[in-house]
Parts: sequence; structure tokens; C-alpha cells
Amino acid sequence: MRHLNIGIPRGLLFHSYGEAWKLFFRELGCEVTVSPETNADILKEGIRHTVGDLCLPVKTFLGHAAVLKDNIDVLFIPRYVSVEQESYMCPKMIGLPDVTRACMVNLPPVLDPMFHVKLNKEQTVREFVKPVAKFLSLSPAAVSAACERHLNRHEEAPAGQHRQAEHPLNEGVGRSAVPGRMNISVIGRPYLLFDRHLSKNLFHFIKKLGANPVYLNPDRAEIREAMAVIPKWVYWDMGKEVVAAAHMSFKDERIDGVVNVCSATCGPDSFTGDLIRKRLNQRNKPYMSLSLDEHTSDVGIQTRLEAFIDMIAKVTA
Ligand code: SF4
Repeated sequence: MRHLNIGIPRGLLFHSYGEAWKLFFRELGCEVTVSPETNADILKEGIRHTVGDLCLPVKTFLGHAAVLKDNIDVLFIPRYVSVEQESYMCPKMIGLPDVTRACMVNLPPVLDPMFHVKLNKEQTVREFVKPVAKFLSLSPAAVSAACERHLNRHEEAPAGQHRQAEHPLNEGVGRSAVPGRMNISVIGRPYLLFDRHLSKNLFHFIKKLGANPVYLNPDRAEIREAMAVIPKWVYWDMGKEVVAAAHMSFKDERIDGVVNVCSATCGPDSFTGDLIRKRLNQRNKPYMSLSLDEHTSDVGIQTRLEAFIDMIAKVTA
């Protein structure tokens, strides 16, 4: 019997939950095909399918869906509404299956189960399991067991903290500052930071400049601490983590500078960016915001990083 081939675009939440999705579908007897790492052609393809004012990560996601669509049986685009009680995903993420359907023609069937932990735990699992079981003609009990094992564990860690096998963090990016080195904390959403093409491989470039790039991964207590020092709780998943990572970076004496990587047309990023700059950086630590879109050049990013690191070196000499 031929196994159903599930296509998973390597974009957006794939960078946080992709490994779990792969395990989930493989346990259910499916083949899984993930699109390749982002490159110039994939991004161009995404832009070609874009209508309206979409952000860079969503455009990129459409490019990944486009390269997969003709070689798979079904496209998996889960509707992530929330992964914890106190916050929501951004509207573009919640509407991602609809955006994809609206922007692209000749799509294979789209499997778009909802993940929404605002409901109680049983409801969360049921909502997600029902369409998957129906689509794969499997018993809800089998799908539910796989869901419990691989997916319904978001309460254990904030968004973006999940184990990812294919991750730049496995390639020598520090999770804490190293004494005696220039430590640059890089904050931002996993789907921008960990997509080497979109982020212009900036972790690597910071290392090349002789500094130590650090990616801080706030836990629940650190997120709560950060929320307590700002006037209003951040209600966006991932936005909260970015703000908390900024707070930890400004607090940590060993961190010399902070780089916030954001998307040019992202509403949540413009809000959190302002919050970080005006409310959290009380000690005036060197801080730079890198706003990315499809026109951002590698050289432009590298020049700004060089100038930032030179400036820190001069100030701390
Ligand atoms: S949070 Fe910002 S970057 Fe992410 S999908 Fe929403 S608009 Fe795009």
C-alpha cells in the first residue's frame, strides 16, 4: 500500500514545531516531504504568489508551498491559534491556510487542523485530531495518542523553544554569554533568525567578525519577569519571547550589544520593537534593529553589523 505523502512547507512555525510534526505524521504511517531550505528561487516564487501586503515570512512560506505542491498528496498547514493560555498567534499565522488557498491555484488538498489551547486540553486535542483522523481514515484514538506524544506539549515550553534537529543553534551559537568575549545577543522570531537565507546567515557573520553570537531562550519565569516591567502584557506568542529575550540581554552584564531581527511589515514587531527600545533599554546598551524584507541585501546587513561591532569595540576599549 502506498503511504500518503504529506508536504510540510519549511517556513513560519516549521522552525519551532517542524520536528514534532514530522514525528507525528510518521507515527501515523505517512511519508513526509519537507521543502528545501529557503533560497533566492523559493523566495521569488513566494513573491510571485503574493497578493496584498504580506510580511516576508509569509511570502517565503508561500514559496515553500509552491515548490512542494505538485509532488505531494496533501499540504499540511495547521491553523495555530494559540499555544498557551495567555496569548495568541498573529492573525496572519491564524489565517495561514486561508491566505495560502487565496494566493495559490492548483493546490493539493490542504489539511488545516486547528491548534488552540484556549479550549480545555481534551478539546484542544479533539479539535486537532478530528480532521486529521478523517482525512487519513484513521481512528481518532490512534491520532489522539500520536498528538499527545508529539504535539500537545506546548505548555511545557514557550513558543519557539522546541527541540529542532536542523537548527543553527546546533552549529556553535551560544545559549549564554562567554566571559572575556564580545557577546552579541540576537533576538527575533525563530522563522526569521533560523532561516539562513532570510537572516543572511547573521549568526555566522557575527562569528566571522570575532564576536560571540548569543541566542537567549527565555523560560516561563523569565517571560513573567519581563512582562512585569512593561506597562502592558504582550499578547502575541513569540512577541512575548522576543521581549523577554531583550529584557534578559539588557540585564546581563556580559552581553555587550543586542540585535533585534524583525520583519519590515510586521505589526507585532513594530509594537515590540518600540517597547524594547523605549521601555526596556534603561541602561542604553548598544541596540540595533535589523528590519528585513525581500530587498534587504547581504552586504547591507553585513555593513550594519560591522559598524555596530566596531562601535561596541571602540566604546569598550
Ligand atoms: S508576527 Fe509578523 S512576521 Fe510573523 S507572521 Fe505575523 S506579521 Fe508576519
